[in-house]
Amino acid sequence: KKGVIVIGGGLAGSEAAWQIAQRGVPVFLYEMRPFETTGAHSTDHLAEIVCSNSLGSNLLSNASGLLLQELRILNSLLVRIADSCALPAGKALAVDREKFSLTVTQHILKHPLITLIRKEVVDLPTGTVCIIATGPLTSPRFAEKLQQLIQSPFLYFYDALCPLIDAHSIDFNYTFKASRYSDSNSSADYINCPLTQDQYIELSQELAQGERVKLHDFEKEIFFEGCLPIEIMAKRGLHTLRFGPLRPTGLIDPRTKKRPYAVVQLRQDNIAASLYNMVGFQTNLTFKEQDRIFRIIPALQKAEFVRYGQLHRNTFINSPKLLFPTLQFKILPLLFFAGQLAGFEGYAGNIASGLVAGINGARIFQGQEPLVFPRQTIIGELVWYMTHAEPEYFQPMKANFGLFNVSLEDNLPQDKISRTLALSQRSLKKIEALARQINEGYS
Ligand code: FAD
Repeated sequence: KKGVIVIGGGLAGSEAAWQIAQRGVPVFLYEMRPFETTGAHSTDHLAEIVCSNSLGSNLLSNASGLLLQELRILNSLLVRIADSCALPAGKALAVDREKFSLTVTQHILKHPLITLIRKEVVDLPTGTVCIIATGPLTSPRFAEKLQQLIQSPFLYFYDALCPLIDAHSIDFNYTFKASRYSDSNSSADYINCPLTQDQYIELSQELAQGERVKLHDFEKEIFFEGCLPIEIMAKRGLHTLRFGPLRPTGLIDPRTKKRPYAVVQLRQDNIAASLYNMVGFQTNLTFKEQDRIFRIIPALQKAEFVRYGQLHRNTFINSPKLLFPTLQFKILPLLFFAGQLAGFEGYAGNIASGLVAGINGARIFQGQEPLVFPRQTIIGELVWYMTHAEPEYFQPMKANFGLFNVSLEDNLPQDKISRTLALSQRSLKKIEALARQINEGYS
């Protein structure tokens, strides 16, 4: 039968299926649960959220709040349902997870144009529009097929993510720029955060004693020596880090003209230099502990963590190399990738990618041009990042204001909240215009 195939009934796949069907196009949605499991999901509901039940802040001064609002304007099913299942959680949109995924499942099952097929997909469909949204725990058999399709090494199995910091929040009074062993004429690629002996000892001890996230069974064996969590290294001895990722060798602090006792290095993470990652700080400490312990580093006392360090099996493709900004696969443009598999991080980001792929999948099916979502909206910037980041260092990313390419001509207020609110207002205007253009006749 004719229609669009969606593989994976998670956050991205469910949203994609809904968007396609709302445009009058039949959908065949494949979900392997409950017959095959991922190890992290525990029900057979669609759009099950596996960990935290928060979709992020609802405030427009926060990038996740802006993303949620853009999704509301664009008629996202999942955000509408999340709003209806909201729990009291301050300014955040936290949901009753059971009610949320059950309601999504009911909506999908009731839609006359969606056929839900409970089956693991192991082969790639050909000759029809297909959205692949099988998530970070894509079934191994299907992952193997994808690997053949995109040709190794473009499908990664990463298990560790370093924390990511908004550059505006780094205190540069406590840093110096340099690359290891560089002289003053060579490039200074890293922001170095020197530590005194006391600061280093405190940091090392706190890391070693910090509270860790309980691992799922399938995650227990995944450490390998080249990529140990920072707290595991710290546990091995007080000085392990000083001879590992925090080694000061080849670095001279220009203010003291001396080699510091230890150094935390920050590496630029995006072209706009608005984001930096903490080199070697892959970690499984709880987010709360990371937020507390990393502030021992003087330059990071007021750091804003765009993403905390994480540790879990995470399958994602090298989207900047493989996808067009419409989320189409460059080699076979009838195929789309969405969700965490395409590098979108965070529940709302995954939903957004499903919405974009769904709208574009329906457009291709109906013989229309696919859309590139406008820059200067958080959805547009997120998709732009996924498809234009530096392929060599590509890592999953969630919505954050650092993705906006802001210039002086934008005349934005200096104060942070006013600045982010101004960015949000600008985004929302663009999204409203887009919604009028694409949603005419659909709801
Ligand atoms: P999923 O929601 O995982 O959906 C993919 C679906 O595809 C699943 O239902 C799966 O059963 C199905 N599937 C897989 N392979 C096949 C196949 N071959 N055939 C048919 N169906 C298939 N994000 C957050 O924002 N906050 C968190 O706290 C958080 N914690 C996480 C904890 C863990 C352990 C993991 C693994 C991820 C976590 N994430 C978290 C990331 C999270 O997975 C994503 O934000 C979100 O669920 C991804 O959406 P998705 O639609 O891409 O994938």
